[in-house]
Amino acid sequence: MKAVVSLNAGSSSIKFALFTLDGAGEPGRSAAGKIEKIGIEPTLVATSADGAVLIERTWRDGAGLTHADLLKDLFAWAVDHLEGREVIAIGHRVVHGGSRFAEPRRVDDGLLAALEQLCPLAPLHQPHNLAAIRAVSALSPELPQVACFDTAFHHDKPAVASRLALPRLLHDQGVRRYGFHGLSYEYIAAELQRIDPGLAAGRVIAAHLGNGASLCAMKAGKSIDTTMGFTALDGLMMGTRCGSLDPGVVLYLQAQMGMDVGQVEELLYSRSGLLGVSGVSSDMRLLSASASPEAAEAIELFAWRAAREFGAMASSLGGVDAIVFTAGIGENAALVRRDICARLEWIGVELDDAANARSLQRIDAKGSRVAVLVIPTDEERMIAKHSISLIARGAS
Ligand code: ADP
Repeated sequence: MKAVVSLNAGSSSIKFALFTLDGAGEPGRSAAGKIEKIGIEPTLVATSADGAVLIERTWRDGAGLTHADLLKDLFAWAVDHLEGREVIAIGHRVVHGGSRFAEPRRVDDGLLAALEQLCPLAPLHQPHNLAAIRAVSALSPELPQVACFDTAFHHDKPAVASRLALPRLLHDQGVRRYGFHGLSYEYIAAELQRIDPGLAAGRVIAAHLGNGASLCAMKAGKSIDTTMGFTALDGLMMGTRCGSLDPGVVLYLQAQMGMDVGQVEELLYSRSGLLGVSGVSSDMRLLSASASPEAAEAIELFAWRAAREFGAMASSLGGVDAIVFTAGIGENAALVRRDICARLEWIGVELDDAANARSLQRIDAKGSRVAVLVIPTDEERMIAKHSISLIARGAS
């Protein structure tokens, strides 16, 4: 039997999943997990498909360990876990494919150089994605690697949804609306097609509500608009990111409050959103359990902002047939779904409260003009499937 590994490397974490392949069937998830707190005290946890813990490890005094060091240890464990299965590819989530890459690509030196050029567009993510690719190349030069882009699903959205209202030259220089969470939306589009092809053929707003959060307006399974733009900072309020912001605030912070670029970046990416407004936490579970009025206000703002952006996506689609909630908050936080949907009654959304409370797949009330679904996302599986099909085609 063969296997594929999916990797999603961030600044302080590496998420991974191992899939086994049995003929032409759906890849089987044999393990999934995370290395977290890289640079502090790295920890590794991996679980099997049924949630059993396969490994739990902490590198005490491991503050100096790099992503490459930890990947080496992870691979040693993975080889053991896969019991001799041949790993045919490593698939990577790469945040930015720019305006050039609309599909997953086999990694080679030329691709790496092209992706390197995109680092300024996603300085907090892209360098870590590429570092993981290089680390794997160093560990195992012959192993095929595949780059799967978070921007790709949005690549063919209408030109009007890609342009910022800035001078044309900047657009030509790459300052445009790309959109992210594409692997998640691609997975959701495929799942919806499997679950209800009639709905998938219509006008759908998918809501990826995790630590990062965005909406995607899909017509017949294709992205036609999305709330994230040039960076993953735009659109919805998020765990620690502000979402859409009057650009005048950035000017004010710099010109009047004396903040430099790095300080503004840190404020907008890491100290805003649910964390900034609540002063309690970026974690929706903790906020929901908190008695603090500021926590309640943060949740209210999250739902209000999300509903507002739903309105924008509905406008781009010219109406809505279905809404799909996904990712940590979207899949689990019934109260947040309820608050958002309560603000969407005007477009014909009616929830079945009991179904919503249980996070069932269909949570709309009988007679609701808009179908409402909860579909768990699986970006790692999407990466694995892309990698398998690219390797099978022998394409580059
Ligand atoms: P990431 O973007 O890092 O992949 P996730 O998709 O895992 O994030 O989403 C993390 C968010 O989901 C956190 O705010 C977390 O509190 C929230 N979440 C996860 N489970 C629940 C739950 N049962 N109830 C409410 N919120 C939840």
